[in-house]
Amino acid sequence: MVSTTTIAFIGLGHMGGPMAANLVKAGHRVLGFDLVPDLLAASVSAGVEPAASAAGAAAEADVVVTMLPAGRHVLGLYREQALLAAARPGTLFVDCSTIDVADARTAHEAVVAAGHRALDAPVSGGVVGAEAATLTFMAGGGTEEFAAARPLLDAMGKKAVHCGGPGAGQAAKICNNMILAISMIGVSEAFVLAESLGLDHQALYDVASTASGQCWALTVNCPVPGPVPTSPANRDYRPGFAAPLMAKDLGLAANALRAGGVEAPLGLKAAEMYAAFAAGEGSELDFSAIVRTLRPAVPTQNGSPA
Ligand code: NAD
Repeated sequence: MVSTTTIAFIGLGHMGGPMAANLVKAGHRVLGFDLVPDLLAASVSAGVEPAASAAGAAAEADVVVTMLPAGRHVLGLYREQALLAAARPGTLFVDCSTIDVADARTAHEAVVAAGHRALDAPVSGGVVGAEAATLTFMAGGGTEEFAAARPLLDAMGKKAVHCGGPGAGQAAKICNNMILAISMIGVSEAFVLAESLGLDHQALYDVASTASGQCWALTVNCPVPGPVPTSPANRDYRPGFAAPLMAKDLGLAANALRAGGVEAPLGLKAAEMYAAFAAGEGSELDFSAIVRTLRPAVPTQNGSPA
């Protein structure tokens, strides 16, 4: 039997809403708060108890879970909005947002200095994984904190990996997504080269998917329609994993590269390409639609690019 934990869940958006609902389903008491009243109301209909403020929820909780847009929101809540001051000594703060590694480490320090316990636990799996409780958690913090959070992570996901000390969860997340972005651009460039050489998409897929070019960007999220019927390319690039979210994660990777003095020309180039794509035609598309930007411009009748 699962023992009941009282959880303050702050940030009930696309991800946090269904994650909080899964904690309720697992038998926990969840006190929820979001700045948007309609989101709080939607969570209440899933069994979450409404809190009047984030600090009010934290004051009653054994565990405080945050699922917020960026590091400034997490640090702002911890400090200015007095979450740390309101919580009982020893409360476990689990931040599931995707934020800068440096912000995650600052958050850990602030939590510990206030007499509490901290874990960074960003996720992959998207809204579909949040709804189906099949997320993967990447955790950073102490072994005891990971063990204490484990039953809650298991209620919201299918896998939880303890990656190391403070910030290690965020580090794993941005390293993985940097690999993904670079490999998606590489796969896309290969399809565009194949097109210019008169090589069929399916023929390239049949070779590369069982040869050394094999990767997730090719065999699961194939950027051209046809070879993988379930990939977003077959539904006009409806996400999937939206390009702006990839751009956000690459921005965090670029910050960490610069902070560490790491030369990663492909990672920085991928960050630049996805930032431009997400700000323009890719704003509502799956990240695999980057292939569209790699094709040569169609010449107009006078020979100049369209
Ligand atoms: P979202 O914008 O839908 O939700 C964030 C919520 O936080 C909003 O409802 C907002 O009102 C709330 N919020 C902001 N400041 C607050 C405050 N001070 N007090 C209370 N509530 C506050 O974002 P999301 O898609 O749910 O993503 C959340 C986090 O998860 C982000 O860090 C994102 O990068 C990460 N993530 C998202 C996905 C995805 O597919 N959406 C996948 C993996 C990771």
